[in-house]
Amino acid sequence: MRTEEHKNNILDYMPEELETVAAELGEKKFRAAQIFGWLAKGAAGFDEMKNVPAALRTGLAETFYIGLPEAVRRQESRDGTVKCLFEFADGTQVESVFMKYEYGNSICISSQSGCRMGCTFCASTMDGLDRSLTGGEMLAQVLAMRNLTGEDIGHVVVMGMGEPFDNYDGLSRFIRLIHDKKGYNLGLRNITVSTCGIIPKIRQFAIDFPQVNLAVSLHASNQKLRELTMPVARRYDYYELMKACREYTELTGRRITFEYAVINGVNDSAACAKELASEMKGWLSHVNLIPLNEVRGREYKTANGKSVAAFKRILENNGVAVTVRRTLGSDIDAACGQLRRNR
Ligand code: SAH
Repeated sequence: MRTEEHKNNILDYMPEELETVAAELGEKKFRAAQIFGWLAKGAAGFDEMKNVPAALRTGLAETFYIGLPEAVRRQESRDGTVKCLFEFADGTQVESVFMKYEYGNSICISSQSGCRMGCTFCASTMDGLDRSLTGGEMLAQVLAMRNLTGEDIGHVVVMGMGEPFDNYDGLSRFIRLIHDKKGYNLGLRNITVSTCGIIPKIRQFAIDFPQVNLAVSLHASNQKLRELTMPVARRYDYYELMKACREYTELTGRRITFEYAVINGVNDSAACAKELASEMKGWLSHVNLIPLNEVRGREYKTANGKSVAAFKRILENNGVAVTVRRTLGSDIDAACGQLRRNR
């Protein structure tokens, strides 16, 4: 534990909540927007907030700290990908990955330290859940990564460690924090949230954030197969999930991306591809095939390029929108959750 133990992380506060804070410290409300603006710029200390009166800066520092995480490990790939193991003040560690694409820079952030969903191919869940992150801690990963790389970040994907819909409150606050015009001002369409398929939260999300992109980790073409790798399938049935997803697209008018990690001998057969195609056909769906990242301690092997291509062709021939994810950072510990484990 560092000295911040008894203080609150100011990155968790919305501008209207900071107005209350300013008022309590005997200051005008407009100071809140100034403080919020400085935080969004990545300020690491209150003394950086030059247009904020010294007395207010001192007052803030007595009750709050700026919860930017420290990069305790860092790996850089030749393709520009930067992967960080970030540590928060209480010692909690998460991974974040900075990536360069033709359309701009993107960051993949974590919503929890560890995970309790138990997917059998994933490294993040091997030690269970440590704790959920607050909205401010999710924002802090973006700010710390921008400070570290010196690069603008225009896209955020919540696809790192953890299940965002197992931390719906933290996730909602994060979206409101990063979208706020007084702060980072990130467009809702520049945010993507990925879930393993928690049906009630998919419904809630369609109502709360219809403009945010949704991705669903499917990884199987039927219920039985999905149960083998994703314990969450026992709670939320495959066909119920498909129904909720179709309803989501009807309600929001927006497509869903289905992630499908192709695992050798598990879900890569032509029969699987045909079955998946019949589920995906005729509505706003998109399949993203992901060559499996092999994880130490897990027996799964990535499907070879030929079988991925064959799988893709079957989907295409059935009129399903499909892409194969470009592999970035393959020369570093790219697979989710591996950096935290390989200490
Ligand atoms: N819990 C959320 C988000 C985090 S996982 C979800 O399940 O969507 C982000 C994505 O990486 C998910 O699609 C997940 O299934 C996938 N993933 C996890 N381990 C992987 C591995 N070893 N190789 C390829 N993809 C993996």
